[in-house]
Amino acid sequence: MLGLYLHIPFCSAICNYCNFNRGLFDADLKARYVDALVAEIERAGLQACATSEGDATTSEGDATTSEDTPPGAAARAAADTIYFGGGTPSLLEPEEIARIIAACTSSFEVADDPEVTLEANPESVTQARLAAFKTAGVNRLSFGVQSLNDAELQRLSRLHSAARARDAVAEARAAGFDNVSIDLMMWLPGQRTSDWLATVDGAIALAPDHVSLYLLEVYPNAPLKEVMARAHWSQAPDDDAAAMYTTAMERLEDAGLRQYEISNVARAGRQSRHNLKYWTDGEWLGFGCGAHSTRDGVRWKNVSATEDYIERISRQASPAVEVRRLSPDERLGDALFTGLRLVDGIDLSAIDIRYGVDVWARFGAELQSFVDAGCLRHEGDGLRLTREGMLIAHEVMAVFV
Ligand code: SF4
Repeated sequence: MLGLYLHIPFCSAICNYCNFNRGLFDADLKARYVDALVAEIERAGLQACATSEGDATTSEGDATTSEDTPPGAAARAAADTIYFGGGTPSLLEPEEIARIIAACTSSFEVADDPEVTLEANPESVTQARLAAFKTAGVNRLSFGVQSLNDAELQRLSRLHSAARARDAVAEARAAGFDNVSIDLMMWLPGQRTSDWLATVDGAIALAPDHVSLYLLEVYPNAPLKEVMARAHWSQAPDDDAAAMYTTAMERLEDAGLRQYEISNVARAGRQSRHNLKYWTDGEWLGFGCGAHSTRDGVRWKNVSATEDYIERISRQASPAVEVRRLSPDERLGDALFTGLRLVDGIDLSAIDIRYGVDVWARFGAELQSFVDAGCLRHEGDGLRLTREGMLIAHEVMAVFV
């Protein structure tokens, strides 16, 4: 079944490290954006399946033509996950969330038990707001906690404190959410291993159902880079970062949160059904500015700028600006590349059935050195990274692309 991704590009403030597609919250813009988002979802639901698609990548900003129109969703295609990502989706009003969910359920055959995730920033919620989001149909929250250390949060220019993050999780439980995820960021400027592990222990104490660990990437033009230079903050050496990751994973697993993907752990039955579509060669439709979609071997991306997106929707034009049919080798490479992120790895016989390729015959010679180094396991039809292998995952995955 499809996953439906809804991009909400508004934030109360722009964090100094952020490289996402987002902008400052503006009430008028938000209202027009929600209208456009609902229109895009309803239009996709109405479209027949096979419209034309372009062969070549077009660059963003190109005029939309029938040749770069992505395949529409088949009328009432089946979907079982709805994911509000951003940006800060929790800045929308619960009524707006309910309206967008209603557009999804009226346009797609949404399963009886869909996973409906809302990314939320701790400072943007109260127990009453969370209860209203639940009434609107949200059944999973993903909190952008990042750190439980106030000094670190300030260095990242986040608006919340560690206490607010803890309170937000407690409010979510009180509002009746039984599926709560926490995002944490490691390798922060000036962060010692002990600081990081204190955040991990603090997160475990909050008894989340799911935790995602991200490595801070400081982009060349990120304001944080300049802040770090002025304050003489640096990131820990690579070896320390590796130890931070492996020790965190051990502690989370000891607490009953099983690792199922390179960056993700969950209690039994609480893996992210939506994100699993990205790692199991699934299909999804993205709505909103900058959203990506993959369906029927075609990948496309919507225009990034919020105003451009609204303008295209308002004149009934496609918001897609990059549409590309993937070659068989690209589809195979993506399936292997993303599948290897999973702790259970790849089922080579399933790949053979789907793509008609004997993966070991094609790539085995290059992969054997990783097996010999203890980074990769090849057992029967299974191929998976070991935890050491996860530290060099990109080197291994590079074999496939
Ligand atoms: S809240 Fe998230 S999306 Fe918004 S600016 Fe900060 S990091 Fe970026």
